[in-house]
Amino acid sequence: MDKRNLLYEGKAKKLFLTDHEQRLVQHFKDDLTAFNGQKTGSFKGKGAINCAISTHLFNYLESHHIPTHLIEKSNETDMMVRKLDMVPVEFVVRNIAAGSLVKRYNLKEGLELSSTVLEYYYKKDELNDPMMAESLIIALDMATPEQVRTMNRIATKINALLRSYFERRNLLLVDFKLEFGKFDEDVVLADEISPDSMRVWDKTTKEKLDKDRFRFDLGNVEKGYREIMKRLLND
Ligand code: 5GP
Repeated sequence: MDKRNLLYEGKAKKLFLTDHEQRLVQHFKDDLTAFNGQKTGSFKGKGAINCAISTHLFNYLESHHIPTHLIEKSNETDMMVRKLDMVPVEFVVRNIAAGSLVKRYNLKEGLELSSTVLEYYYKKDELNDPMMAESLIIALDMATPEQVRTMNRIATKINALLRSYFERRNLLLVDFKLEFGKFDEDVVLADEISPDSMRVWDKTTKEKLDKDRFRFDLGNVEKGYREIMKRLLND
């Protein structure tokens, strides 16, 4: 299917219209950005790695009855996806304290949370993605109470599935971000799950393998991404 006009360009992906009204092409760029676009970089092949990992994980989730926007991987850097009405909320799931949680509550990085934490952020660059209450998603008519319950349930199930999938590959799933879209009344997992949108540590050494390597100039960014891909795609 042909890629047609550009519908939307984000920091790490582009969405193209296709000749099929209900389908889009999600293209993964090689660009890396952090701190709301204040830090930028790239490496050749990053788009292909993120596309491979996202497609693989979405297929895995689909096989466990999680509805996703993935139709098929079209080539190295592109996936064909269902066109959805996006919910402008980032759902962040946390198992281990890191990132903004550590900063906000002055916690020790690496603290194992005794239960899973689910947070909501309004997806709005101009406002720096402020945290939001679950009730605000409903009050602003971004989703119905039923849809919010479903997204919470799906996010929790994804965490359970991925945590054990990662553990079997000696990886710790520290935290990750999900986005959902609506298709009629249904909610469907959208966007991506990649080293750009999750924190992943080696289970034994606690070495960081994800985008934190870029955020904090830890070096070997590409090596980290490739290591995550190698372990996750190894069935
Ligand atoms: P934190 O709130 O600690 O910065 O991020 C929590 C998790 O969600 C991390 O895995 C981070 O990569 C992901 N995350 C949070 N906000 C964004 C975002 O705007 N874009 C992407 N790609 N991931 C995000």
